[in-house]
Amino acid sequence: MAPVLSVLAAGRASTTAQPPPGADGSEPAAALAELQERRVWTFDAGSGIQVCFDNLFSGARLNGCEQLGQREFRLLVAPEREPINPSPWYALRIRSSKPCEVTLRLAIATPKARPRAWASRDGRRWAMAPDSQWVGEPGDRECTIKVSIVPDPLFIASNHMIGIEELDAWSSRVAMESGVAVEPIGRSTGGRPILAFTLNPQAPPDHVIVIGRQHPPEVSGSVGLMKFVERLQQSDAALADFGRRFRITVIPLVNPDGVHEGQWRCTLGGIDANRDWHEFSQPETRAVRDKVLAMAKEPGARIHLLLDFHATDRDVLYTPAPGSAVEPAGFVQAWLDGVQSRFPREKLESTASHNLDQWTFKRWAAETINAPGITVEFGSLTPHERIAAKARVFAEVMAEVLAAQVPSREAPKPRVPGRGDVVRPPVTVP
Ligand SMILES: [Zn+2]
Repeated sequence: MAPVLSVLAAGRASTTAQPPPGADGSEPAAALAELQERRVWTFDAGSGIQVCFDNLFSGARLNGCEQLGQREFRLLVAPEREPINPSPWYALRIRSSKPCEVTLRLAIATPKARPRAWASRDGRRWAMAPDSQWVGEPGDRECTIKVSIVPDPLFIASNHMIGIEELDAWSSRVAMESGVAVEPIGRSTGGRPILAFTLNPQAPPDHVIVIGRQHPPEVSGSVGLMKFVERLQQSDAALADFGRRFRITVIPLVNPDGVHEGQWRCTLGGIDANRDWHEFSQPETRAVRDKVLAMAKEPGARIHLLLDFHATDRDVLYTPAPGSAVEPAGFVQAWLDGVQSRFPREKLESTASHNLDQWTFKRWAAETINAPGITVEFGSLTPHERIAAKARVFAEVMAEVLAAQVPSREAPKPRVPGRGDVVRPPVTVP
């Protein structure tokens, strides 16, 4: 039997159920997330045809596989912990020794799930299964998909896969184009580096901070983050002034273990990272917190905005809680108004009252950094071109509003000596 192709590498480090000691010197938190067994399932599908399933790639999640009929299979998908958010993730690879058609019954372990199926031959270009191949409604415990398979592998997942490899490659490219370095700011429970880079490091220490993928399946959030940052990279008339005046620090992948393990919500420590911004029980949230606090302590530093990219069932913005004493005080309303004016045919949804009692990154931003923290949510089925168009406008309007609201601190020009000044000859060192 030919070996299963490894189109996607297995990630930056292997993950085991026993985490290594905490990279920041602390004792590791017990790994509470339940890991899937990584393996290949092989079945006899009749007429001399073998059908193989596997989860041996980064981002895969497939917890079990059973044969119901000759070419009908049940695929078991379970979260890393329960109860959990109804945003299931699964990703698997399937191939057969000869072309054939199979029926897959996806059994999602948690009710109220809202999965869809996307397919890809190369793990990079994805298409959603058409209605003719898919039977499943939100809340169904079992959804059915019919697929044609061949000896070359077919990836099937609950959304596009944008994982560690893609995000790291994107960070390296953007940083290289901008002449800056990508640096680790800490390590996850599984020992994976959490990477960051800063655009416009020559600007005064007026900071914008952008983070993403606290929640592993939220691929649309990564698309938005990438398009937002790529827009800020450009130095056309709309962005040139911003580029001279503001630094942007980007942390694209806060939860690399969760993405590698195909988890639905949590870190490898079994904790929802975006509920950990008070406890800081996880090395991932501690790494981001320590980086932001270190930036805030630099002489003259000011942090003006912290954005956290996610995905949910629709496009929506979660803004600071009512009454938050954040600076710049007028930023959020001016930004929302500015963005809305650019999309006159769509009523943009935003709320300041989401998850007020939860310790989210945006709450920590408001209460500790005293700057607006905004959760930017894109719909998991919003077309990527639409996400890109919105993210670019988010960037342009942000640049405009911050440039208007934050006093400029461009490096003072050298003063021309005037009358009465004592002009000393330059000191020469022998
Ligand atoms: Zn999220």
